[in-house]
Amino acid sequence: MIEGTLFRIKRYALHDGPGIRTTVFFKGCPLSCRWCHNPEGLDPRPQTMSRRTSSGEIRETVGAVIGVNDLIKEIEKDVLFYDESGGGVTFSGGEPLAQPEFLEAMLVACNHLEIHAALDTSGYAPSAVLDPILPRLQLVLFDLKIMDEKQHRRYTGASNRTVLDNLKRIDDHRTPVRIRVPLIPGITDGDDNIAEIVRFAGSLKTLQGVDLLPFHRIGIEKYRRLGMKDNTAGISPPSPERVAAIQRSFESAGLIASIGG
Ligand code: SF4
Repeated sequence: MIEGTLFRIKRYALHDGPGIRTTVFFKGCPLSCRWCHNPEGLDPRPQTMSRRTSSGEIRETVGAVIGVNDLIKEIEKDVLFYDESGGGVTFSGGEPLAQPEFLEAMLVACNHLEIHAALDTSGYAPSAVLDPILPRLQLVLFDLKIMDEKQHRRYTGASNRTVLDNLKRIDDHRTPVRIRVPLIPGITDGDDNIAEIVRFAGSLKTLQGVDLLPFHRIGIEKYRRLGMKDNTAGISPPSPERVAAIQRSFESAGLIASIGG
């Protein structure tokens, strides 16, 4: 039986693709973005997290192994909502492409049940992993963070060459794609980086739109609760004026840019 490790299943999600969706968060990510606000998604193994309660601190496990059949039963619970709203399921993380066999098996099952399937990805995976699943996807939500290779390596721990190549592969395959740009002051929101992202996004044939994701500090306390070093210290949310100016940069190039996912 094919199994995968998840850290969350979110029902009735409204910001991870069209309509009402179930978002499935895969555990494990090969990147280490300075601003990551899902630290529980980084390690591929289940972890222990502390929680303060009125009766003291308790320990709970984050992450669980689940089989394809059990997960598809969970997803199927909301098919009426998907049908009514044009929604479906979004595989997110962490990085879903880091569990390719499980992801592909889930996509086969979703295709069989005619459930709209989206992939929310950093794009950091071998092309041999990406290529076989492209025909099974109805939408890709693709993170585009930093265009300069050196800066990408500095702030995410890896080169962006694979990421950019994979985005081109998705576009060449004609899979619909939305670009997601995290707006991290002093890291991703500089004029040069935004101009490069606008240029790259404008060259795509299958672009459905751009989602601008301003940094926020919600959930950052999870680093402490997991006993992990908080790399987001010192990062603040961008000003509304800066976010609006970046949105105008995309719109001036004829692209549809929304704030939020
Ligand atoms: S790709 Fe996403 S999950 Fe992975 S480290 Fe970056 S922000 Fe976190």
